[in-house]
Amino acid sequence: MVYLDHNATTRPDPEVTAAVARCLDATWGNPSSLHAGGQAARAVLQSARAAAARLVGAQTQEIAFASGGTEADNQALLGLLFADGAGRHVVTTAIEHQAVLRPCQVLEAAGWHVTRVAPDARGRVDPATVVAALRPDTVLVSIMLANNETGVLQPVREIAAAVRPRGIPVHTDAVQAVGRIPVAVGDLGVDLLSASAHKFHGPKGVGFLYVRKGCEWPAVLSGGHQENGRRAGTENLPGIAGLGAACELARLRLDSDHRTMAARRAQLEEGLARLCPGVRIHGAGSERLPNTTYASFPGVDAVALTMNLDVLGICVSTGSACTSWQRAAPHVLTAMGCSPEVALSAVRFSLGRDTTANDIETTLKALADVLPRLAIP
Ligand code: PLP
Repeated sequence: MVYLDHNATTRPDPEVTAAVARCLDATWGNPSSLHAGGQAARAVLQSARAAAARLVGAQTQEIAFASGGTEADNQALLGLLFADGAGRHVVTTAIEHQAVLRPCQVLEAAGWHVTRVAPDARGRVDPATVVAALRPDTVLVSIMLANNETGVLQPVREIAAAVRPRGIPVHTDAVQAVGRIPVAVGDLGVDLLSASAHKFHGPKGVGFLYVRKGCEWPAVLSGGHQENGRRAGTENLPGIAGLGAACELARLRLDSDHRTMAARRAQLEEGLARLCPGVRIHGAGSERLPNTTYASFPGVDAVALTMNLDVLGICVSTGSACTSWQRAAPHVLTAMGCSPEVALSAVRFSLGRDTTANDIETTLKALADVLPRLAIP
């Protein structure tokens, strides 16, 4: 099998699997217990927290574990419902993941106002448009760091530099960026950042929300005092142990993984251009994640292409895994101004640290076989 769907999820690294198993076997105590078994579990929790903090350049106490990217995003957005401030306006983009867009709808249902800024045709949001959308009652700006479909990097640093001096906190959904490109919260200047372990060879169902020290963000889940009162509930310690291992690996391998993925992606895109001169690579003119190619093949139905490649053992996607069963044009491409025909012919190839040159050759050969059969004359 050639797996080119790493933006949906990645295979847990053997070191991650070992860390999860070790935790289940040896440190299964409750990290909140005072006895030795609890304290051994607490040490695992704190070591994973330190690894997560190192990966994003945060302080250890600024990391609160969550059940993944969706929960971290929900905590950032829906925390507003529990805040006492007077403002009731949020600025975000039209190209966010549903994990941000849906909580924005929840806010709207509760009487809040949300402005969704559109990107340009290359999938990038202009900082000036974000600033123009601010209102006196804006209390949060939420902009993703890397788009999950196009891989386009958003100018979060510039946006934070313009927005934060006005006293408005900035959240970034960095789920697709953390572990793939260098991410440093201090450099970005954000107050809140979401990450998810399964996007960088960690386990599913675990992630974290970075909350800048001094930024009081209300808790959404209430109950026990876990995570310093930020997120109640006994921690998913095996998952967190795996996340810690994945963070450490990602940090050590960041540069070499980046180089490998960028080289393979260039090989893929050159091959696509040769095979299909009409191919359109979305966001090609923008700075992108090194692993993502989102390509429209004129006259080809993306679902048919995905299924035909699957028969040949190649796993790709029509876009976000969360919406791949819906037959609507992907909202990201629609926001970038693509016609429904172009949007419905788009297939996402997302590479991983283990993708080989041979995998790319196999994929290109399969495309050469399948594309002529699918193209509508
Ligand atoms: N945000 C982005 C940009 C994503 O790509 C995803 C998952 O694909 C999520 C949030 C949700 O993360 P999780 O699957 O950990 O809930």
